Amino acid sequence: MTAEQATAWGADGAHSPVMNNYGSPPRLFVKGSGAELWDRQGARHLDFLCGLAVTGLGHAHPEVTEAIAAQAGILTHTSNLFANEHQAPVAEAISRLIDAGPGQVLFQNSGAEANEAALKIVRKYQGRGRHGVVSAYRSFHGRTLMTLAATGQPEKHEPFQPLPEGFRHVIWNDLDEFEKSLTPEVGGVILEPVQGEGGVNPADPEYLQGVRRICDERGLLLILDEIQTGFGRTGHWFGFQAAGITPDVVTMAKGIANGMPVGAIWARDEVAGAFVPGDHGSTYAGQPLALSAARATIAELEAIDAPRAAITIETALREGLEPLPGVDHVRGRGLLLGVELNEAGLGGRTAGEIARACLDRGLILNGVTPSALRLAPPFILTDAQVAEAIDIMTSVIAEGAP
Ligand SMILES: *Cc1c(COP(=O)(O)O)cnc(C)c1O
Repeated sequence: MTAEQATAWGADGAHSPVMNNYGSPPRLFVKGSGAELWDRQGARHLDFLCGLAVTGLGHAHPEVTEAIAAQAGILTHTSNLFANEHQAPVAEAISRLIDAGPGQVLFQNSGAEANEAALKIVRKYQGRGRHGVVSAYRSFHGRTLMTLAATGQPEKHEPFQPLPEGFRHVIWNDLDEFEKSLTPEVGGVILEPVQGEGGVNPADPEYLQGVRRICDERGLLLILDEIQTGFGRTGHWFGFQAAGITPDVVTMAKGIANGMPVGAIWARDEVAGAFVPGDHGSTYAGQPLALSAARATIAELEAIDAPRAAITIETALREGLEPLPGVDHVRGRGLLLGVELNEAGLGGRTAGEIARACLDRGLILNGVTPSALRLAPPFILTDAQVAEAIDIMTSVIAEGAP
């Protein structure tokens, strides 16, 4: 174990009790409030990553905390052999925010599980022989074998071959390439409205509109993976709404419950009907404790008009970052932004190293490509917090200049 791991895990000796799946954690956080986190040594950090686009309302949000605490004292779990009082209201709220006609919701526990369910519903709906799914290079759809196969990052596939078959990947934002990839066994396509893990790459609205048209012509299901983009993050409730299209299936997770593990899929009625009892299931999914958090989170996101807050803060961040000499451009939508650094800004460093330097000054963000930082801050930032983060980034980026 490295000294760093020993610090993070609070253990000494040679053997870490936790698998080394995530590398050496650079901090161990013990407390959060709003956009701020405190580590074990009491150092304050400004959280511009939100646990990977999850805690949009900030940490320890009073309404969400109260809902979870109250539910924990009443009822936490009964399984899907029974209903609970949160399922229908949360499903209705999701359908209302998706606003794409009549549809139904199936709860899951994570993003990968939501996509797994979506990929299974394509097979069930389209039938044998039309199980193929097209996705884009640089996409990220999860870590289960099916969702890994859908993920358009071949280097992530290699250690786990052979993967489930039927997946093919196409160049992002290229409609001709998409159309050329379609063979009779393709039954669906899965796309992120803004590729998150792949570098914060927004879909052109014309691309999504073109994909929708081709899906209609050929009877393909269009799945929008809104796991990172959903619930206001891009300045719309769901990212696809910027393109004015209607999806067949939407998958969601991260922002839905402010940190409680919840995922879900929405499908328009006809597609939703493809799943009948016995087709799919999960012991925990939709359990009352998790959904109490989702219910409180969605209500609060609506109360603060999260999409509008995202646009307001995006504007302030762009005004602060775009003029910096070390910044090539800022891409993304709302509060899912990629800050692409030029050579001067990088100054021989990777974006990951720059993110680490920001962390050491108390600002949490991450390097999403070797040359781009990702910002996914909460909707509740104050002007002072935005200014503080811009100051830290400005000085860390400026250190790269010769
Ligand atoms: C995070 C993410 C996933 C996977 O979600 P998990 O909850 O980590 O399984 C899938 N798709 C997208 C777009 C994501 O950002």
